[in-house]
Amino acid sequence: MIRSLAVKLTLAFLAVGVSGALLVAFISGQRTRLEFNRFVSQQSGDSVVAVLLLGFYEENEYSWEGIGQWLTNEPSLSFLSRLIVLADSEGRMIYSPGPEQVGLEVDSAGLGGGISVIHDNELVGTAYFRDRIIPEEGLPGFSPESFFLYSVSQATALSAAIAALLALVLGILLSRALTRPLRELTTATEEMAAGQLGQQVEANARDEIGKLATAFNKMSRDLAQASHLRRQMTADIAHDLRTPLTILRGYTEGLSDGSIENGKELYELLHQEVVHIQHLVEDLRTLSLADAGELSLDRRIIDPKALLERAGLAHVVAARQKSISLRVEAPDTLPSVSVDVERMTQVLDNLVTNALQFTSEGEILLEGASIDGSVALRVSDTGTGIQPQEISFIFDRFYKVDRSRHRNGQAQSGLGLAIAKAIVEAHDGVISADSTPGKGTSFTILLPKSSN
Ligand code: ADP
Repeated sequence: MIRSLAVKLTLAFLAVGVSGALLVAFISGQRTRLEFNRFVSQQSGDSVVAVLLLGFYEENEYSWEGIGQWLTNEPSLSFLSRLIVLADSEGRMIYSPGPEQVGLEVDSAGLGGGISVIHDNELVGTAYFRDRIIPEEGLPGFSPESFFLYSVSQATALSAAIAALLALVLGILLSRALTRPLRELTTATEEMAAGQLGQQVEANARDEIGKLATAFNKMSRDLAQASHLRRQMTADIAHDLRTPLTILRGYTEGLSDGSIENGKELYELLHQEVVHIQHLVEDLRTLSLADAGELSLDRRIIDPKALLERAGLAHVVAARQKSISLRVEAPDTLPSVSVDVERMTQVLDNLVTNALQFTSEGEILLEGASIDGSVALRVSDTGTGIQPQEISFIFDRFYKVDRSRHRNGQAQSGLGLAIAKAIVEAHDGVISADSTPGKGTSFTILLPKSSN
């Protein structure tokens, strides 16, 4: 398969050029050979006639007397007697198939080039063919040489015309084949511009157009997916806001018409809903700041072990309540990292909260390690694990494996890992998940070590 359009075009031009040249060479070669053979045989035929006539002239003691009889009586020459007209050195006819013309001046213009009979460097007669088989011979002023040249140049012109036609046909076919993917791309782009996202074109070629088609297909898929995600996200935000707002509205209406009694419990409930909405709005704000690359980081150089210990401490009570052991394991010699402590703690917090939520027994381990100039922070649990088909989506916004899951009676937003990812990436780090269903999950954050 040819990889470059430039090579394809060059080969196409070469194919057109070479086939044209071959065609010209073949046709004019054939024609030249044919004409040359005809010319040569005609020339040798002419010299045979000249030799025959000279033989008679010399044997007849340098006179043309009796030439007519000689030609007609000699059976091998009888064909000549019907074809030639012989004139003497002065141009008077001494023999003609029509005897009445003998003695008249030869109108050589009407007969074409003559065959000279020369004796002792002296012209003693000229023979003319009455009608050459070759029609052009009959044209006034056409010598066999010029006829030969004329035929050859005619053949060359003809083959050049055929070559031009072939080049045209090949050119049309090749350019149509080369521009077909471009036309497809244009149509697909126009359809995309008209709002039909997700158009795909054929992208089999490995040349520049093939690469363009592949890039177009990817762009088109990404655009369609982004558009889908945007719609999905708007729906998710609306949904997540609606539930607490409906609850708040129910209570406030009940309070205002007196059907619900106020009290400490009710206010706590109302407060919880407001906090939930506030968290959601805060999460969305963090994500939109990260999207715009405007997530402000208050970086400080810190020992990663301190980060892990801080996150572990915040959850140690909750872990004990579930009889799950929570351990922090990190060497004291870890390189420092430059991070926004609040935000990185938020990330670790989220990972540990998730781990606690999905683990009913066993342990949660917070590890730190130094790997190839980076610092790895890992949160592993011995919980339910995540199915392989789910794992690539867990960092997506609003993605929840179990949509009906609640935490402390609150619906989960599915934004936790999306925010964790955004924060880690803002620190030039990467976050990844690894899980075995039924055995547990581990999340690893790789952060560049601080340069000072
Ligand atoms: P949420 O805010 O709803 O917890 P996250 O973005 O934090 O959402 O997590 C997305 C999904 O990933 C969760 O719904 C959960 O199913 C899955 N998940 C996250 N952490 C774990 C874990 N440690 N073990 C099993 N599943 C997990």
